[in-house]
Amino acid sequence: MTPARSLEARRGFAQMSTWDRSVDFVVIGSGAAGMTGALFAHELGASTLLVEKSAHYGGSTALSGGMLWVPANHLMLEAQLSDSLDEGLTYLEGITNGTSSVDRLRAYLETAPAMVRYLADRSHVRFNCVRDYPDYYPERPGGRAGGRSIEPVEFDAHQLGIEFAHQRVPSWNMLVLGLLQITVAEVRTLTRGGTPALRFLARHLLRYLLDIKARRRGRGDTRLTLGPALVARLRRSLMDRDVPLWLRSRLRDFVMEDGRVAGVVIEREGRTVTIRARKGVLLAAGGFERNAGLRQRYQQQPIGDAWTVGCADNTGDWLVSAQRLGAELDLMEEAWWTPVLVAPDEPQPRVMIVEKGLPGSLIVDQRGERFVNEAAPYNDIGRRMFATHAAVAPAIPAYFVFDGRYRKKYAVGPVMPGSGRPDWTLSRTVREGFLTRAPTIPDLAAKLGIERGRLERTIQRYNHGARAGRDPDYGRGDSLQDRYYSDPDVAPNPCLGPIDSPPFYAVRVYPGDLGTKGGLRTDTNARVLTAGGEPILGLYAAGNCSASVMGASYPGAGGTIGPAMTFACIAAHHAVGGTGVALKPGTR
Ligand SMILES: Cc1cc2nc3c(=O)[nH]c(=O)nc-3n(C[C@H](O)[C@H](O)[C@H](O)COP(=O)(O)OP(=O)(O)OC[C@H]3O[C@@H](n4cnc5c(N)ncnc54)[C@H](O)[C@@H]3O)c2cc1C
Repeated sequence: MTPARSLEARRGFAQMSTWDRSVDFVVIGSGAAGMTGALFAHELGASTLLVEKSAHYGGSTALSGGMLWVPANHLMLEAQLSDSLDEGLTYLEGITNGTSSVDRLRAYLETAPAMVRYLADRSHVRFNCVRDYPDYYPERPGGRAGGRSIEPVEFDAHQLGIEFAHQRVPSWNMLVLGLLQITVAEVRTLTRGGTPALRFLARHLLRYLLDIKARRRGRGDTRLTLGPALVARLRRSLMDRDVPLWLRSRLRDFVMEDGRVAGVVIEREGRTVTIRARKGVLLAAGGFERNAGLRQRYQQQPIGDAWTVGCADNTGDWLVSAQRLGAELDLMEEAWWTPVLVAPDEPQPRVMIVEKGLPGSLIVDQRGERFVNEAAPYNDIGRRMFATHAAVAPAIPAYFVFDGRYRKKYAVGPVMPGSGRPDWTLSRTVREGFLTRAPTIPDLAAKLGIERGRLERTIQRYNHGARAGRDPDYGRGDSLQDRYYSDPDVAPNPCLGPIDSPPFYAVRVYPGDLGTKGGLRTDTNARVLTAGGEPILGLYAAGNCSASVMGASYPGAGGTIGPAMTFACIAAHHAVGGTGVALKPGTR
């Protein structure tokens, strides 16, 4: 035994004389990061194994919007939308505000467009440009009014054959009518209601019902969009290449040899299996959003695992073994925050992205005071809820307040617009456990335990500005971003309308998240670093188990999956030894 090995043995790492299996590259976790890493490792000529703890592949990615945020991607340039790496860097340096490293931001910007292009040319992983989806801060230097967010092209699940049964399915409360998947553009069609929305629903319900094969097998919608389409496209691409995927296989530990990570110990369906990874291990095991203990240890209070919509298997069980390797952690207090609504009898919260910026509504703390531009990016709302709660007044939960006009026109969480679903048709649990309703604003305040006059004053002030289309306190509707989910029929400001049409309603809002974004600190090659800044040889990390390149910020729709895939791609290149073998020369 070499001195290095005995040191590793003393630190408790497994020592292998024989391995159960040997490959070039092992990838842990089958979300966007893991599948992309496996795909590129294969493209570079490495024998690759993808290992997933759950019985279903896809992780949070399969539950997500599936968008990628990629400055200067080829789709936007083809659509005559101008952009450049430098503009992207100016934007990211501004919004990350010192919480990320310029070198990593540059690595992201250099690789992401080439990766998207490569996938489009050589695999099933294709995207559409969402040309009017703005960056989350489009008015900041380097910001763009659209095109950097791209969404996966919809995909027919029948192309996966029986493998579709192993894909993680979104919770029914994330689907339209609990059944249908939709694209980004269709979200807006439905939000705006009227004949186009009804036509859409009729057409897709019929299609859903006539998909006899899927109905007979008890499968969901086979027209996959958003995250499910991205995951299915990645999976199909891996299937074409015969890259093996082990389900029900959990990373237990790393194996160290001669000072580098030489392999992993996997618990596979009750058996312990050792796998040698000749060229490296990519950890892509998601965040720790479903681990209440870790969240309480590292994050702002109050916190638990009840307000996340991330995948149930993301429990951060990689943390202990990675720390024993000496890996440094960063951004552990952070998450991809979003306000959520918690409806009774539903399996998980609902993200509140569309409702919050529509006219005739606002959010108040428990004193009845506004504290945020409600139409701001969801990450900002979550952060502001915590900050307000910690320093100003109780704001967890906060209250989303709206009037009868709003209720009639727009959906709120599980409650469809009142024009089709008047209050008397709602279940008792929703009427009593979700909505608070009162004939006047003071009565509503009393029901919420807020001082009656204070809520009334807040609403009077808001109404005064709203009638003139202005929000002097928080600037709601000033940014193009605010107006993406707004009501174009409302003028002069599509995000603002008075709250003056009885009855009045409130629902509780919580600071939820799409997943955590703190984890292992990595370098520009996605290598995991020690506290001293040295790379741990043989170990790479990408996605939500690594500290995000976006720091504390969220640049635009797709700001989490874009980097997850890109740094997995970079990791594969570095580990396998390619210098741009898969990506076109000169693009890295
Ligand atoms: C509703 C919703 C909408 C979203 N929309 C978007 C969007 O449009 N764009 C965007 O950029 N982001 C979006 N996000 C966030 C995004 O989905 C995640 O940040 C991203 O998918 C994380 O990818 P990942 O590969 O790091 O992890 P995941 O996709 O979560 O995959 C991690 C995998 O690792 C597995 N795993 C965990 N531990 C182990 C272990 N010990 N051994 C083996 N396997 C393990 C897990 O089971 C899981 O399958 C959304 C999230 C949600 C929930």
